[in-house]
Amino acid sequence: MAQLQFSEIEKAAARIKGVAHRTPVLTSRTADDMARAQLFFKCENFQRSGAFKFRGAYNALSKFSDEQRRAGVVTFSSGNHAQAIALSASLLGMASAIIMPHDAPTLKVAATKGYGAEVIVYDRYKEDREAIGRRMAQERGMTLIPPYDHPDVICGQGTATMELIEDAGQLDVLLVCVGGGGLLAGSALAASALSPQCRIIGVEPEAGNDAQQSLRGGAVVHIAVPDTIADGAMVTHIGEHNFEVIRRDVDDIVTVSDAQLVATMKFFAERMKMIVEPTGCLGAAAALHAVVPLEGKRVGILISGGNVDLARFARLVA
Ligand SMILES: *Cc1c(COP(=O)(O)O)cnc(C)c1O
Repeated sequence: MAQLQFSEIEKAAARIKGVAHRTPVLTSRTADDMARAQLFFKCENFQRSGAFKFRGAYNALSKFSDEQRRAGVVTFSSGNHAQAIALSASLLGMASAIIMPHDAPTLKVAATKGYGAEVIVYDRYKEDREAIGRRMAQERGMTLIPPYDHPDVICGQGTATMELIEDAGQLDVLLVCVGGGGLLAGSALAASALSPQCRIIGVEPEAGNDAQQSLRGGAVVHIAVPDTIADGAMVTHIGEHNFEVIRRDVDDIVTVSDAQLVATMKFFAERMKMIVEPTGCLGAAAALHAVVPLEGKRVGILISGGNVDLARFARLVA
C-alpha cells in the first residue's frame, strides 16, 4: 500500500509541525531500576487535546480539498479521537460531527462539545457506529475519518515514534498500546525505518486480546466489547490497514491486567508527578511488571494519553 510508508510519516510531520506539540521524552531512575532497563517515555498525555490522536486527526484533515472542507468531517470515537477531530476541525475552520457511545467518560464528551463539535450519542452494545457514520457521511456530504483504520491517521500517529527516536536515539524495544492499531501501525512504520534493530511490541488489555489473537492467527479476529478500565482500547477488532502493517512489522503483542494498569497510574502520579489515563499506561505496565524481558535494554514507551476524570482517577487509585 503506497500510502503506508515511512515517507508519508515524514510528510505528516511537516503538516503538524508548529500545530501539534513536540511532547517531551521523560526518564525516571526509579522506573529504570524497576525494569532493570533504560526507559524513555514519550509523553503524549501532554499532547494537544490530551492524547496522540491529535497527530492523526490533524494530518488527515489537513489533506482535505476545499470541497471536503466546506462539508466538514464526521467520525465515531469513544473519546480521544473525537476531541482530536473536533479540535483539528475548529483549527482548520470546518464543521465536525462526532458519534460517541452513551457511556463515554463525561470529561471526554464535554471536551468534544467544548471544541465546537456536534455530538451524536449511540448505544455501543446495540448499534453499529460505523453504519451511523457512513449514513451521516452520505446524507451531509461529510468526509468520514475513522479513529484508526485510515492511512492518514496511521501516518500521523507515526510521528510520535519518529520524534521519540530522534530524541532518545536507537532503541532495542518499543512498547506501544493497542486499541484499533493506529498508534501501533504508525509506530511500527517509523521504528522500522529509523531504528531497524528495534523489537516492536504491542500491549493490550488482558480482557480484550483480539490484536494478539490476530497477529498469532494471521487474520483479524473480532471479539465482544472487552470489559476493561482501558476505555481507549475497548475496541472489538483492529483495522485492515493497521493489520497489514502490524503483521509485517510487529514482533509480538502482549497483555496486561487492569490491576497492573492501576499500579502504573499510581506510579506515574507518585513518582513522575503526572496523570496518565488507564489506556495510556498499557506500554509502561508491561515494562514495570516484567511482562516483556527488558534487562539492560534501551526501551521506548508510548504514553498515549492523559484524559481521565479526576473523580474516576481517584476511585481507581484509592
Ligand atoms: C486511541 C487510544 C489508544 C489506542 O490507539 P489505537 O490507535 O486505536 O490503537 C491508546 N491510548 C489512548 C489514550 C487512546 O486515546
